[in-house]
Amino acid sequence: MQKGHIGVTTENIFPIIKKYLYSDHEIFLRELVSNAVDATQKLKTLASVGEFKGEMGEAPVRVILDEEKKTITISDRGVGMTSEEIDKYINQVAFSGANEFLEKYKKDANAIIGHFGLGFYSSFMVSEKVEIITKSFRDGAQAVKWSCDGSPEYTLEEVEKADRGTDIILYIDKDNEQYATKAEIDKLLKKYCRFLPVEVIFGKETEWKDGKEEETEKDNVVNETKPLWTRTPSELKDEDYNQFYRGLYPMADEPLFNIHLNVDYPFNLTGVLYFPKLKNNVEVQKNKIQLYCNQVYVTDSVEGIVPEFLTLLHGVIDSPDIPLNVSRSYLQSDGNVKKISSHITKKVADRLEEIFKKDRDGFEAKWDDLKIFIEYGMLTEEKFYDRAKKFTLLKNTDGKFFTFDEYANIIKDNQTDKDDQLVYLYATDVEGQFSFIEAAKNKGYDVLVLDGQLDSHFVNHLESKFEKSRFVRVDSDIAEKLIPKADAAELKLSAAQKQDLTTIFSSQVPNVDKANFIVTFEALEETDTPVMITQQEFMRRMKEM
Ligand code: ADP
Ligand code: MG
Repeated sequence: MQKGHIGVTTENIFPIIKKYLYSDHEIFLRELVSNAVDATQKLKTLASVGEFKGEMGEAPVRVILDEEKKTITISDRGVGMTSEEIDKYINQVAFSGANEFLEKYKKDANAIIGHFGLGFYSSFMVSEKVEIITKSFRDGAQAVKWSCDGSPEYTLEEVEKADRGTDIILYIDKDNEQYATKAEIDKLLKKYCRFLPVEVIFGKETEWKDGKEEETEKDNVVNETKPLWTRTPSELKDEDYNQFYRGLYPMADEPLFNIHLNVDYPFNLTGVLYFPKLKNNVEVQKNKIQLYCNQVYVTDSVEGIVPEFLTLLHGVIDSPDIPLNVSRSYLQSDGNVKKISSHITKKVADRLEEIFKKDRDGFEAKWDDLKIFIEYGMLTEEKFYDRAKKFTLLKNTDGKFFTFDEYANIIKDNQTDKDDQLVYLYATDVEGQFSFIEAAKNKGYDVLVLDGQLDSHFVNHLESKFEKSRFVRVDSDIAEKLIPKADAAELKLSAAQKQDLTTIFSSQVPNVDKANFIVTFEALEETDTPVMITQQEFMRRMKEM
């Protein structure tokens, strides 16, 4: 038997592992299962290039729990390790960066350590002892057992092992006994391993018999090895996307649209994003997108990686190129991450434009649900505004939809003011402003409906973007400023009569507000509301802001 000492600075590493990774103890299972997956895929690759000539056979990863002994075993039939490889990959490599590691994480305890850094040694966060029993796939390899109890000493000895591959055996310590339960392992596998590319088996499938849950003979496979986002879009139907969505968000309504991302240059990124249907248009929940790295779950906190407005979307992003073992503040300034972010923005806009062009009716039908995302995007991302202005829709009070260009065309002859500006009339409350809408329509004007959550900001934004245009709420001072249509109803009151009425009505307005109110007749003559006192448009918007 060989005994050894794990590197020079390692006295310090175990307490650090326990302390700094405290909140994230549970990732140990992800680390070990993904190592087992890696080892299996390596062997498959070797087989495909002819370097491994044996039988691949079934090679799932198995997670085995012994509740009495409080052990968890992660077992694979992958490449395995020789004693030299253990020395190299476990004893040395894992600690070669120990000095650096200590320096770095003493300073920044919030850093994301993970896959991605500590790997195998995260097992010591929950274990008093860890054993590796492994046999390389190479012909005539000798199986070995490595054992370490969390002190910087380990032992390495030759053992018998029938099959190639690796068993990692964790002896769960007293403080972490909750991990040695079926329910907890189920939960962790579901969270971290759900889409790993190699079958992961934990226990047996169960079925209900006579009101009791009983184990069957069938292995319980916990993951989907070819999740939707890894498949070719042309092979997938809407129903496949919807089904995948239901699996991810069982409580949600059917999504409005999906966007399949597939990028291989200048970085790798795949994924599927969904525009969710928001319940009552109010429950905007952020951070529902899950981030994966080669099908290994990393986080569902994607802020800083995707553009702010897309944090409202649902779905999955998978990229090996997002640097995960660094802190969030670093992430946000990382050039690669910025590129990823702007690329996703572009993709989303392109896809929406494509849907709009292909099926305008369908797009219009979903517009009311979709518009909050688009408006939010346009308000917060200049680049998105530039792309989205081609397909963003404006709806009028007759329920008709127009693009920006189309609408400008509709109103250009009839809705201008004396400065030749286009006047966009809009209602914020179709019922409450009914009589104003009617009056405007009688004059031949068109009225938009802008009654959404973001619309008061959106109106301001559009006004700053549209040239020679202004937005006027339908119950504002329209009559004064609009050039009446030639065939609009003739004015029935004389100028003197109007002046008298204005004096009377104005006297009812409190003194302080006087300057901000105006009295209108024209627009309303054909309706049941012949005279009206209204607040000036700019005052109204001041209040809404
Ligand atoms: P990483 O996975 O990022 O390389 P780890 O600490 O998780 O870092 O693993 C270190 C190394 O140990 C791996 O690169 C691999 O060579 C070896 N290893 C770990 N687990 C296994 C396993 N189940 N089978 C074969 N080799 C393994
Ligand atoms: Mg690893």
